[in-house]
Amino acid sequence: MLRSLSNVVAPRALARMFAAGPDMSKLKVTKTTTPREKLPAEELVFGANFADHMLEIDWTAAEGWKDPVIRPYGPFDIDPSASCYHYGGVCFEGLKAYIDDDGCARLFRPDMNMARFSRSSTRLGLPDFDQDAVLEGIKELVRLDKDWIPRKPGYSLYLRPTAIATQESLGVGAPSASKLFVITSPVGPYYKSGFAPVRLLADEHHVRAWPGGIGYTKAGGNYAPTVVPQKKANDAGYAQVMWLFGETGQVTEVGTMNMFVLWHNTAGELELVTPPLDDGTILPGVTRDSILHLVRSRGDVKVSEAPFTIYQMIDAIADGRMVEAFGAGTACIVSPIEGFNFKGVDYDIPLSADASKRAGDLTHELAEELMGIQYGRIEGPPGWSVKLD
Ligand SMILES: *Cc1c(COP(=O)(O)O)cnc(C)c1O
Repeated sequence: MLRSLSNVVAPRALARMFAAGPDMSKLKVTKTTTPREKLPAEELVFGANFADHMLEIDWTAAEGWKDPVIRPYGPFDIDPSASCYHYGGVCFEGLKAYIDDDGCARLFRPDMNMARFSRSSTRLGLPDFDQDAVLEGIKELVRLDKDWIPRKPGYSLYLRPTAIATQESLGVGAPSASKLFVITSPVGPYYKSGFAPVRLLADEHHVRAWPGGIGYTKAGGNYAPTVVPQKKANDAGYAQVMWLFGETGQVTEVGTMNMFVLWHNTAGELELVTPPLDDGTILPGVTRDSILHLVRSRGDVKVSEAPFTIYQMIDAIADGRMVEAFGAGTACIVSPIEGFNFKGVDYDIPLSADASKRAGDLTHELAEELMGIQYGRIEGPPGWSVKLD
């Protein structure tokens, strides 16, 4: 049966058939009768307050995806034996809804978040889903809570899709029940008054991800173990951890961002480099992919997805070849890096000669370009900025 089907149906369509549901035509919306208080924009703290509604879709192995529900934001009633509480059957996504100058809500490359959500879920044995259907549910949620998107430059509504294993059993095994839900939170700009370049602590002891592991997923279990190293870095006066891997000191990521370095390589070329996705240790960031695309289309900088080590960074600094470095992710877009500490020694990374930028020139340009596309002020590549109405 499977073999004969695969001869006539394209693999993606086949995957869709088996990831059938949820059925968004069955979406049931219950509006709140007690709207939540909206804070003034200046008082918003990241992820601390939530909009009126949430999307919730349950699944069981026996019945598949149940009918999706949008209902007032509020707690769940979940059995204490549910495996998400014990074995880390949790994964999530992070993306934002923006308001453009015409008052229209927009998402940025949400198809990439849905594809990654599907990869994270299935890696944890959580059920796959129809990516277009779940995205449609998210769009409905954003339309309903559109007033929660702050109408100020740099502000947005942060969207947090999450999937959890809910079967009531202490056995470690493939989830027989799960819940997919989406909550949303109004957020301010990461940088309230211009960039604030960061200093990193390159961590020699803790490893975030390893070949064969799940670093490429947004599994909850990748994040709890970073809290203590992050606190140690903060206590030592550094903003973020630079994650390394292996004897050679391969640079992997920074905090929960992808790492980029702009340098003159040993062949003398101006090169933007970020670690490759091939061994599964790097989170495939939407911002990472967008930056690679934008810089490749400029044509004036060589762009490489290639491994590099902390020792190569130190050599580049010593030789005066280092140009700039930054982290990249949805929360901040780009985070300029002004230096790092490794084995007790502090190293400086240049910023723009124009001190008012507080970032490297390329870092600064990329932030402007990406924001322009996200808020609909610049026409980006086809399909990147998705209008909701
Ligand atoms: C989410 C995340 C990123 C950035 O991904 P974006 O899609 O650009 O937001 C990078 N690294 C880690 C570890 C992450 O969790």
